Amino acid sequence: MIEIPESINLTKQIAKEYTGKKVAKVVAGHTPHGFAFYTHDTNMYPEMLCGKTLDSVNSLARLVELVFGDMHFVMGDGTAPRYLSPDALDPEKHQFLIRFEDGSGFYCTLRMYGELSIYPFGESDNFYYLVTKEKPSPLSKQFTRDYFQTIVDEAGAKTSAKALLATEQRIPGLGNGVLQDILFNARIHPQKKLQNLEDADIDTLFSCVTEGLADMTAKQGRDTEKDLYGVPGGYKTILSNKTISDPCPECGSSIMRKAYLGGNVYFCPVCQPL
Ligand SMILES: [Zn+2]
Repeated sequence: MIEIPESINLTKQIAKEYTGKKVAKVVAGHTPHGFAFYTHDTNMYPEMLCGKTLDSVNSLARLVELVFGDMHFVMGDGTAPRYLSPDALDPEKHQFLIRFEDGSGFYCTLRMYGELSIYPFGESDNFYYLVTKEKPSPLSKQFTRDYFQTIVDEAGAKTSAKALLATEQRIPGLGNGVLQDILFNARIHPQKKLQNLEDADIDTLFSCVTEGLADMTAKQGRDTEKDLYGVPGGYKTILSNKTISDPCPECGSSIMRKAYLGGNVYFCPVCQPL
């Protein structure tokens, strides 16, 4: 699923490929999908977007926002956009497809779920969209150690490390994917309660959040995710479903996988003791 590093990389690729191009064709809802979230009747998508020019593309946490004049088209984390060359036929299955006047475009086939929203005039009452716009990115200057402390304090002593970082939209775009390596690098068990962490642990966690995400972003996203061209990201995940059978790179112990708070957590029981 798209998280901060992948959203930034996709945003750059989409901006470079299509900015300034005029929309010639849009198809929404072609292949039924139980967890495709549209803001309007899919029959309205073509008239809302066709003839408009892509002015800019913004990365908003786990979202990618394409601005077509007054229409803001927003793709969420499960949407997996893929490039279409001018001579490529439309794929058989997709939940969204767009072509520009030169024939190039992209399509989305959703993974578990995904939002494909249109916000006229950039206005929305969608909670996730708004919270993403309101809160500072962990890659921004506004995301300071003091700001991180306010998140820790508001979460409360009984909150676990995973719940702190990846639930309640405290840090939009930091999800269950990037979480694993951040906690491994901090040597903190996902279920460890904040009351059992020292101030120095919070310092470390802050560094691992900001530096970890910067590293993943600089490498064009994680190797568990693919970019606009279907190419996996250059950041090699330490703990993920790709590496579950490998020993811990630090101590050689077996990595554990466990369902916890909506999604599996991966951890080394020796390096990240509870
Ligand atoms: Zn270990």
